[in-house]
Order: sequence, then structure tokens, then C-alpha cells
Amino acid sequence: MKESIVICSGISKVYDTVFHQVIALDNLDIEIKKNKLTAIIGPSGSGKTTLLNLIAGIDRITSGQIICCDVDYSFLSDDQLAAFRRQNIGFIFQLYHLLPTLNVIENVMLPLLPYQRSLEFDLREKALQVIEWVGLGNRINHLPAELSGGEQQRVAIARALINDPLLLLADEPTGNLDSKTSFEIVRLFRTLMEKKDLTIILVTHDLRISAESDYIYTLRDGRLDGDIRKSLFSCSNL
Ligand code: ADP
Ligand code: MG
Repeated sequence: MKESIVICSGISKVYDTVFHQVIALDNLDIEIKKNKLTAIIGPSGSGKTTLLNLIAGIDRITSGQIICCDVDYSFLSDDQLAAFRRQNIGFIFQLYHLLPTLNVIENVMLPLLPYQRSLEFDLREKALQVIEWVGLGNRINHLPAELSGGEQQRVAIARALINDPLLLLADEPTGNLDSKTSFEIVRLFRTLMEKKDLTIILVTHDLRISAESDYIYTLRDGRLDGDIRKSLFSCSNL
């Protein structure tokens, strides 16, 4: 297997709005190394969510090429891309997106529920397993409102792991958490990455969180600076 799990070459994303075009990503190149934690930082509006959505196959690039797990997205139909995402990618949204009327295990099972019959494993058992991984084995029947912010985020992480993804994408996963809980979540990411065959891309505003990662890239106006980890942390004690 190659060293990089994702290779983005010259990718651009232009949104057409009623009044004008927005160039959200501008001819960007990035390679994501396998089994590493990569952080992407940058100000609001710099294109971080757009980049994650494109790598996840939730949205399509305007130009360029994305290869993920050796698959070139441009050759996939929308249905094929959705199937690819279901098999290979886990996505953690900033605002958890848990359904308030479903309990923990139901929320975790939800993405694969429509496909339950075609799965080679028992969905409920798998859900119990990933809930154990994130340390919520004693909370399976709780509703989201009965959980703390950090616990809700753990449910969202478990849900993103239900398909045993190769690639886990997290959009500001600690944005709504206090700093102690944020570090617990990042430590959980590290543990998961080391135990599973997992690669993680993390979008964050928080420099201290990004310091826990293997690579750090900065986005600015849809353009990427190289890996800044060494220059940032070699001479500071952030
Ligand atoms: P970030 O996650 O870094 O805050 P985004 O990727 O959400 O940035 O947005 C990048 C730019 O693209 C912003 O200028 C934003 O307003 C614009 N944008 C994002 N999504 C859309 C959309 N669906 N339609 C039009 N413009 C969009
Ligand atoms: Mg965003």
C-alpha cells in the first residue's frame, strides 16, 4: 500500500451564488499520509469544511483530481461515490448532528440501518463495540440531551466508526468543548489511530489541539501553506 491515502492535485472549488462566484479552494495540492493525524487550521471562511467535504465525497470538485484509497473520484457516479464513502470514510460534524429522540446505540447504528440486511456483521453488536471504543459502554440507552458535550461528541465519533473506515474526517470536533475535554477527544483519536488501521484529518481553530497531530497545514483564502509543524513547534512550547 502506498504511503498516502489521499492525493489532491490542483483541486479548485467554485460555488456559484446568485450574485457572484466564490472561489472556496484555489488550485490546491495536498497529500495525506496513511495512519497519521493531519490537522488543517485556518480562519473562518478559508475553505476547511469545503476541503473535508470534497475529500469525503460529499461534494464534487470544480477542477483537479482527488484520489482516495487508490480511487479517482472523477470516475465514480454519485451513487458509486456515496457507496465508496459508506465503505471507507467516517465523518464527524462540528455540531454532532445526533438525533435527539434516538438513544446512543440507535444514533450510532443510524448510518448503516438502511443497509442492515446486506451487512456481513451484526449491526447492533458492531455498534456496541464502537461505543465501547469511545468509552460510553454504560450510556447506550441515554438520549443525547442526557449526555455532556464531550460524551455527545464521543457518540458522534462512534457513529463515524461504525463502518470501520480507513479515513476519519473531523470538522472542528472540539469547537464546542472545554480544553480538558478537547484534549481527551484528541487523545481518543490517537488511541483509535494506533489500534485501528485509521488515518485522521482534523480541522481545528485551536493551535494547541493541532500540536497533538503529526502534520499541520494552514488554509488561507482557499490556498494551502506547506506542513508548518516543524517551524511552529520546534522553537516554542505551545
Ligand atoms: P471554513 O470551513 O474554513 O470556515 P468553508 O469551506 O465553509 O470555510 O467556506 C469557504 C468559502 O466558501 C467561504 O467564503 C464560504 O462563504 C463559501 N461557501 C461555503 N459553502 C458555500 C455554498 N454552499 N455556497 C456558496 N458559498 C459557499
Ligand atoms: Mg467550517
